Amino acid sequence: MSVLVFADSTDGKFKKTALEVVSYGKKVAEQLGVKLVALTINASDASELYTYGAERVLTVSNDSLSTFNAKEYAGVITQAATKESATVIVVDSSIDGLYLSPLVAINLEAGYASNTVAAPSSTSPFTVKRKAFSNKAFSNTVISTDKKVIGLAKNSFGIHENVVSGSLESFEAEVIASGVKSESVERVTGKVTIADADTVVSAGRGLKGPENWGMIEELAAVLGAATACSKPVSDLGWRPHGEHVGQTGKPVASNLYIAIGISGAIQHLAGINASKVKVVINTDPEAPFFKAADYGVVGDAFEVVPKLIEKLKAFKAA
Ligand code: FAD
Repeated sequence: MSVLVFADSTDGKFKKTALEVVSYGKKVAEQLGVKLVALTINASDASELYTYGAERVLTVSNDSLSTFNAKEYAGVITQAATKESATVIVVDSSIDGLYLSPLVAINLEAGYASNTVAAPSSTSPFTVKRKAFSNKAFSNTVISTDKKVIGLAKNSFGIHENVVSGSLESFEAEVIASGVKSESVERVTGKVTIADADTVVSAGRGLKGPENWGMIEELAAVLGAATACSKPVSDLGWRPHGEHVGQTGKPVASNLYIAIGISGAIQHLAGINASKVKVVINTDPEAPFFKAADYGVVGDAFEVVPKLIEKLKAFKAA
C-alpha cells in the first residue's frame, strides 16, 4: 500500500503546487503508516522531491507527453497507482488537475474529493475538509471507497520540507492515445503567471480603457505580481482572456490579491475568495467588494495607484 502523488511540472520544472502536493502526500502517508510515492512526467530534476518527503519517485520520460493531455496523463497516473497499490492518490487543483482527478477516479473506481484544504481529520473513516459553495463554507467529507482521489486546493496545506533519502525509478507507462492532440501551445513568457503568483494585481472596468493598464503593470512589476482582470475587461478585449479571473475564469489562491476598480460581483468573488489577504481600491464606498476585503481604500485608482507605486519603490530602495 502507498500514497501516490502526481507532481506536475512545466518545461521540466516543478510547479509550486507540485511541492505542496508532495508535502500533503507525506502527511497522509504518515497518518496511514505507508510509503509516499511521487510520479513525475518529463521533469528535469525529480530528486528535488526528496526534500518534501517523497521516498520513491517514479519518472516518466516520454516525448508524446510533452504537452498536457488529460486522458493520457490520467492513464499514466492510473497505471502508476495500480503498480504501487496506492490507496490514496493526490493531484493538485490547477485547471489541468481539475480535468485529471475525476478521470483518474473513474479509472480506479475511486471516490473523489475535490477542493480539499487539510490533511484528513480521520483515516477511519477517511474524512477530509473541503471548500464548498465557492469558498463560502467548508464541508467534512467521508470517502468510503477503498481507493481515494484527493484534489488538493492550492495554497491550502502549504509547502513543508521533510527531507528523506529517496530513490528514482524510471517508469515505462503505456500512453493510450486519446485521439486529441495539441497542434501548438502558446505560453506567456517573462511574466509571473496567475497560477504561480503569490501576489495578483487585478483591475476592472473602473480603469475606463486598455490605455490605462500601464500603472497596473507597473504596480505588478514592483510587487513581482501577476496581472489579472474582471470578465468584462477581457470580454471587451482590453486584456487577454488568460487574465480573466472569477467563477468562469481562472481561480486565484494567492497570498495577496489587490482589486482595483472592480465592483466585487459574486461571480468575481467566487474565483478569488481563496486568496488570503484581499485589498480593494474603489471610488464607491458601497461597492460589494469592500465586504469581502481585508483592507480597503475608498479612492480614485488614478490617484491611489501611482502613489502606491511611488511609496513601494521608495520602500524597496530604502
Ligand atoms: P463594474 O461592475 O462596472 O465595476 C467597476 C467598478 O469600478 C465599480 O465598483 C466602480 O465603483 C469602480 N470604479 C469606477 N471608477 C473608478 C476609479 N477611477 N477608481 C477606482 N474604482 C473605480 N465577472 C468576473 O469578474 N469574473 C467571472 O468569472 C465572471 N463570471 C460571470 C458568470 C456569469 C454567468 C455572469 C452572469 C457574470 C459573470 N461575471 C464575471 C460578471 C460579473 O457579474 C460582473 O459583471 C463583473 O465582475 C463586473 O466587472 P467589473 O467589476 O470590472 O465592472
